[in-house]
Amino acid sequence: MMKEMDEGGADNLVLTLELPVEVKMSSPFFTAGAGLRSPSADRCLLTDGAGLPYISGATLKGRARATLERILRNWQLAVCEPPRPEMVCPHHPHLAGEEEPYCLCCRVFGSPSRPGRVFFADLALDTYRQEVERWMVPQPGVAVDRYTGTAVAEKLYVTEVLRPPFEVHPAFKGSLVGTLNRQEWGLLILSLLLIDYLGGGKARGWGRVEVSCREPSVVNPRGERVKVEDLLEEVRKLAPV
Ligand SMILES: [Zn+2]
Repeated sequence: MMKEMDEGGADNLVLTLELPVEVKMSSPFFTAGAGLRSPSADRCLLTDGAGLPYISGATLKGRARATLERILRNWQLAVCEPPRPEMVCPHHPHLAGEEEPYCLCCRVFGSPSRPGRVFFADLALDTYRQEVERWMVPQPGVAVDRYTGTAVAEKLYVTEVLRPPFEVHPAFKGSLVGTLNRQEWGLLILSLLLIDYLGGGKARGWGRVEVSCREPSVVNPRGERVKVEDLLEEVRKLAPV
């Protein structure tokens, strides 16, 4: 059973916001870079021009989108299901007849046939360089045979991970800028807040994170004040009671 997606009226006014996002690490962290920066590792961290690890906007966007898809499915709202073309917006049967036949996920994140309206900037570590360099360490691992579950002979490999001391929880910081209506902003924020891991090595306990959003600054319409809490409140109207 599908719900009405748009209530009409003031809820549909679009807001251009800059939303500060913080991703706090609570375990070692790894996202793969393209090159082999460190001679002692087979897989190296993704680093910026200065050689420091960062979270790419595309990584955060991908994880947020997957999270929102899960939320919408749980709430039994229409969400497109690639790769089946007949189940992807704007062809999704549950959205047939809508003026704009796109699911809430495509409205927030865009799709091949609808440009995204939010720019996800890369997130940089908010820590002194010397410290970060000390945390970038090689981590040995052994390939495990997927059928027998045992170690594969001569398959030792080394991954460069970001591993701060146990009690230290550094944060990657950045911001998103976009133009969405209030409910879409609420969905985007909810999907960010529910992200609990990012990057690779989930099975090894890597990439556990806590995501938070600070109050957005309103780019347009000027003069309006918007709070994260109020945007999240808009989402309650969609959630099943
Ligand atoms: Zn869609």
